Amino acid sequence: MIPVTSCSGQRIAVLGLGRSGLATARALMAGGAEPVLWDDSAEARAKAEAEGFTCTDLTRNGAFEGVAALITSPGIPHLYPAPNKVIATALDLGIPVDNDIGLFFRNYATKDWDGFDQLPRVIAVTGSNGKSTTTALIHHILQVAGRPVQMAGNIGRGVLDLDPAVDGEVVVLELSSYQTDLARALTPDIAVFTNLSPDHLDRHGGIGGYFAAKRRLFAEGGPDRAVIGVDEVEGRYLAGQLSMGPQDDRVIRVSSGQKLEGFGWSVFARKGFLSEWRKGRQVAAIDLRGVPGLPGAHNHQNACAAFAATRSLGLAPKLIEQAFHSFAGLPHRSQLVGERADVRFINDSKATNVDSAAKALQAFPRIRWIAGGLGKEGGIAGLVPHLGSVVKAYLIGHSARDFALELGDTPYEICETMARAVEAAAAEAEAGEVVLLAPAAASFDQYPNFEKRGEDFAARVRALLET
Ligand code: ADP
Repeated sequence: MIPVTSCSGQRIAVLGLGRSGLATARALMAGGAEPVLWDDSAEARAKAEAEGFTCTDLTRNGAFEGVAALITSPGIPHLYPAPNKVIATALDLGIPVDNDIGLFFRNYATKDWDGFDQLPRVIAVTGSNGKSTTTALIHHILQVAGRPVQMAGNIGRGVLDLDPAVDGEVVVLELSSYQTDLARALTPDIAVFTNLSPDHLDRHGGIGGYFAAKRRLFAEGGPDRAVIGVDEVEGRYLAGQLSMGPQDDRVIRVSSGQKLEGFGWSVFARKGFLSEWRKGRQVAAIDLRGVPGLPGAHNHQNACAAFAATRSLGLAPKLIEQAFHSFAGLPHRSQLVGERADVRFINDSKATNVDSAAKALQAFPRIRWIAGGLGKEGGIAGLVPHLGSVVKAYLIGHSARDFALELGDTPYEICETMARAVEAAAAEAEAGEVVLLAPAAASFDQYPNFEKRGEDFAARVRALLET
């Protein structure tokens, strides 16, 4: 745990008692603050009370008496479409609203650091897609390099749950737009922006607000090094804004697809090869084609971002290449579940929207595609240009018939269930093909979440491979 000593002696309200909220409450307590906790859900309050905390209804008049700050959870709207009632009250009263990320950046460094040979560093990763993969890959590379490293943020562990820093440690944080929007301190040493595509627009009042939330990671603290994906205009704009000119190597430009040779520092992937260029010269190259945990151009973008971040810590290209090969990938993101008779079974259950499913469809040449679920607005019209690689679609869930209408000449079968889809796709797949779960839809019609959907796919595939 990182004790929050910056609020010592103060009453601090905490709204939202999920994983990060509870970690915040503990860290405030350990740092000598008095946490005042609330969650609309009785179940969440009961969990906090079972730990010995008392809850105070922050929606009541006068609940903010003597409160110095409000710390909120990322899932709670703080501005759009409308601020949560408790947050609105804090704003009315002029009480600072912050989150656990802001507290982390103010409390991570301690007096102990004076005795360290090598100062701890923080790498923070944001962007629309690929955050988790890039974060986990950076973490993995540093582990392979033997550096002390911890990982937290949007990827599963609350930032205040991290252990206090040790000499030479690196902390890798995945930060969502909700988190970067609100944090009152954001001072990573290295900041990474993977890419931008429209998402969460209701929470940010549109694409401008969404991009602005991500930009704060670069504008607030001024990282020593910024790794910026420049495949969209927003990335190019951000890279330009952060540098004195194209030769300024505080910015490392990253691309999947474009040659970037005229910059002070760049890393790009083309046709399966990663290249690093510095001041007009290629200084490293890696063949990514046989790297099992990072298939497809989208993962090559993640590989470039992770390469750039770890190169800027001084790691050697050969070591990074070796770490790429031992990266297992994250569950539910282009994850290889099994292989039989040269047919690979890939779980990309996290492809819940058209953009991420499009990337998955571009990653393999011949696909038996399992898709469908709770379809999103606009259906799958955006996938039509990427159906060339689909040998046949096996449609499941609520949207199965709607998806079928958009498939044109692509053969399909309405399977309804995962069981039937896996069975049919496996029976028909030929050598060299991939059976891919990339639903382009939410899971909630048939599963509690995308993880459970991916686990169901993986379990059925494994059962089949054992027979
Ligand atoms: P995030 O944490 O940003 O949601 P993930 O690494 O969890 O990103 O990947 C989310 C989904 O997007 C998965 O379906 C994955 O295959 C796909 N994806 C991963 N990296 C990228 C990328 N660089 N660009 C586009 N899609 C990606």
